[in-house]
Amino acid sequence: MKVLAVVSEIFPLVKTGGLADVAGALPLALAPLGIEVTSLVPGYPSVMDALADAVMVRRYGDLFGGPARLLQGRASGLEIAAIDAPHLYARPGNPYIGPDGRDWPDNAIRFASLAAIAADLGAGAVADFVPDIVHAHDWQAGLTAAYLRYREIGGARPGTVMTVHNLAFQGQFPAALVPTLGLPWSAYTPEGVEYYGAIGFLKAGVALSDRITTVSPSYAAEILTSDGGMGMDGLLRARAPDVRGILNGIDDTVWNPAADRLIARNFNGAHLAERRENKVALQARLGLAAEPDRLLFGVVSRLTWQKGLDLLLDAVPDLLARGAQLALLGSGDATLVDGFVAAAAANPGRVRCVIGYDETLAHLIQAGADAILVPSRFEPCGLTQLCALRYGALPVVARVGGLADTVIDTNEMALANGVGTGLQFAPVTRDALVAAVQRTVELWNEPEAWRTAQRNAMRTDVSWRRPAAHYAALYREVLAERAA
Ligand code: ADP
Repeated sequence: MKVLAVVSEIFPLVKTGGLADVAGALPLALAPLGIEVTSLVPGYPSVMDALADAVMVRRYGDLFGGPARLLQGRASGLEIAAIDAPHLYARPGNPYIGPDGRDWPDNAIRFASLAAIAADLGAGAVADFVPDIVHAHDWQAGLTAAYLRYREIGGARPGTVMTVHNLAFQGQFPAALVPTLGLPWSAYTPEGVEYYGAIGFLKAGVALSDRITTVSPSYAAEILTSDGGMGMDGLLRARAPDVRGILNGIDDTVWNPAADRLIARNFNGAHLAERRENKVALQARLGLAAEPDRLLFGVVSRLTWQKGLDLLLDAVPDLLARGAQLALLGSGDATLVDGFVAAAAANPGRVRCVIGYDETLAHLIQAGADAILVPSRFEPCGLTQLCALRYGALPVVARVGGLADTVIDTNEMALANGVGTGLQFAPVTRDALVAAVQRTVELWNEPEAWRTAQRNAMRTDVSWRRPAAHYAALYREVLAERAA
């Protein structure tokens, strides 16, 4: 089976968040199942650099205002098709945002191009590569199914899957762009690309794809409700029979405490004592008091409202009152940055915050912190808690979305059965977070129970093995339906 993944970022070539991790890992997990994935990505500078040996497979005289070439090649074990369109993608820095901190003004055509070429390939434009399934990820790829439906490309008709990694980002653009995007006005209907009087890229993908997936079963249920549906719940409810939740995994070779070169000392579930050296190293690196017996909470996160870190900021005094330390790594909203920087300044040795993006420190925090806090208001899947499980840092998470689906709360019965892997709290409020911190402290004070939870966490299968099998089954379901 051949699958064309359509995605705006892919690890390790270009990454701003979890989407890139998924795009980079899923093809590798699908390969052993007989599914060949080629990933269509915009030719940003970092992508073009990685594809020096690629071959040109198609030329476009005018792709939304400039010439373009489609290149195919391999990079980091991935089959990549890259759109070399300098007028759209030859820009340094963040793929979505310009140096002024705002979205690139031409994002509509930058990502319509991605979808248009995906549709072209889906319809069989490159004879050597005719996909059975076109799998679009997030709003940037959302128009793919619209181009397949409304542009009279002819040719093959692949199955279509739309994956929503975060419903908060929907890609809405003015209706006046319909002709600019090369769509007929007949596409601008409630059944097609129209969305609240504008063009909805993600909406189009949700309305027009054979299946819609999101990245956890709980989030799949939440987005069907008016509370979690972010304006799209009506449409999603109408499509409910075709909506699936498939958890993300993590790359367990990148995240492997037994072989990780970014941490101070390797360890595994049978050698938890060695783990302590990472805590010592983390405390030293950050300038936290060198007290390895003190409970150390870690955070690795974007600093945004979604992640609930304002609640944590409010709870810092409660956390300190219970004797804990806090190590935070993140970047994002200025108010949260300022708040955490001030909390660190007011509590030297107890609270340390590193503002920025730092892969190495992220690994050391996972390996050295005792618990990882994830107080998200909503969380489609979440990857940090999966890394935390693997590294024996107990995830303390809000009971929402993928967090609810991946962490087993160490409640009394879980303790009695020895099955807990972390702690959950609800509702997502400061008080409930403080109560969870209190429960974490109580568990910390029972070293035997703590170690059991750590070992359970580290035994959890957070790999792509099961998720990949679910995607494979979904693709087969779509193909069977097409054939019927
Ligand atoms: P989201 O995609 O919503 O930001 P996820 O938990 O799904 O959240 O994925 C975020 C990924 O990025 C995780 O692998 C996390 O460890 C990593 N990450 C987030 N912030 C940072 C940071 N400041 N430095 C290093 N890694 C980070």
